[in-house]
Amino acid sequence: MSEPSGESATMRYIRAARVVTASARGTIPDGVVVVDGSRISAVGPAADLVGHVPASAVESFPDATLLPGLIDAHAHLTLAGDRRTYEQMILDPDEMMALVSVRNLQRHLACGVTTLRDNGGRNRVTFIVREAIKRGYFVGPRLLLSGRPVTHRYGHFYWCNGVADGLEAIRATVRQLVAEGADHIKIMASGGATAGNIPYYASYGADELRAAVETAHGLGRLTTAHCRAKQSMINALDAGLDCIEHAEFLVPGQVVAYGGGVSPSGIMEYDERLTERLLRQSTFVSYTFQAGGYDTLVELRAKHAHERLTRDEATRKDALERYYDTKVGIFNRLLEDGMRPLLVVSSDAGPFDCEFGRMHYGMELAVLAGMSPLQAIEAATSLAARACGVAELTGTVEPGKEADLLVVHGNALDDIRRMADVAAVYKAGLKVGVLPPNALLPSLAR
Ligand SMILES: [Zn+2]
Repeated sequence: MSEPSGESATMRYIRAARVVTASARGTIPDGVVVVDGSRISAVGPAADLVGHVPASAVESFPDATLLPGLIDAHAHLTLAGDRRTYEQMILDPDEMMALVSVRNLQRHLACGVTTLRDNGGRNRVTFIVREAIKRGYFVGPRLLLSGRPVTHRYGHFYWCNGVADGLEAIRATVRQLVAEGADHIKIMASGGATAGNIPYYASYGADELRAAVETAHGLGRLTTAHCRAKQSMINALDAGLDCIEHAEFLVPGQVVAYGGGVSPSGIMEYDERLTERLLRQSTFVSYTFQAGGYDTLVELRAKHAHERLTRDEATRKDALERYYDTKVGIFNRLLEDGMRPLLVVSSDAGPFDCEFGRMHYGMELAVLAGMSPLQAIEAATSLAARACGVAELTGTVEPGKEADLLVVHGNALDDIRRMADVAAVYKAGLKVGVLPPNALLPSLAR
């Protein structure tokens, strides 16, 4: 893993074949971003901004796309994404989870994620990791932390120890999390893949969610809810959550085995009435597109192209193809029903096979599901910044914003797959090392 280049953060000029501002300024052909310290001081055509600057002082990317650093609105930095179940992963002590975090964050930064919203880790691990970055022990993305997710005694991620049963306990837990440094509150509104959970049922009622929301808002914090069940989405809307994670619209019924890390999970049944409510209430959806086995599906497809799959592999591939077809279908319906301004694409990196450093998978799926490449980029930059409450700071390439920048080879507006081909990453004006592509291949034993 390479070190940050250590270049001093003074005035720098970064020029690319196109600058995608992800703002009202659109895309600037042959554009330049001027960075002063940690901030962007100017953005515009090269002809206007670097005419007087010696060529040697300009960092030029002649066949590249420069865009805002990515914002992953949903990840779990303490989890290794190495295909163990939650029950296996939680055997790791907190100390190991902290070390896993260091690796995960460097991978995510290298793929262009300059801001990461963590949606739940055990005990105080995520707060400690952020403190280590602040002290300069390693370079990582800007972290927005929930600390422990709020959940009931047997709820999803109960092992993070953010257990709260009853309204008073929920309020007390939210207050404690904020006191410890939580930027937002994550609450588990339905079951998940934690053993014993039932993902297609709500796990808290609207009154319980409302207690969390009111307490969090009273302390100036945004809220987001894990909602795989359709009923949990309804409860979250009733309670006034700011954001809904996953949005799988699961209903009880025939339980479908999707294979891989996805637990048998009821049926995904899109409901446009919920989308109307999301729009009316301006509630963001953080669609964790790649979560649930996409890394495995990519591998199985690659293997299938060259050799015969075993029977088990073939069964698993079929199940995963069905799962992603369904997810693509739901995303497409959300888009058709006008959700684009509130639809964020996030990774859910950490659990099962969902590896850090592959933020581009979700954007590729979003394009497959009907977004233009520019819209997919906005879903992981400017819109994600708004959903996470940091739009004043980052998410677009505009003067005054932090210089969080990603440069990819080629034209990402023509082909979203270019997002995987990183040329450079800057976090708050600091150019960080880029990993060679092979470093992102899975390295842990299966
Ligand atoms: Zn998650």
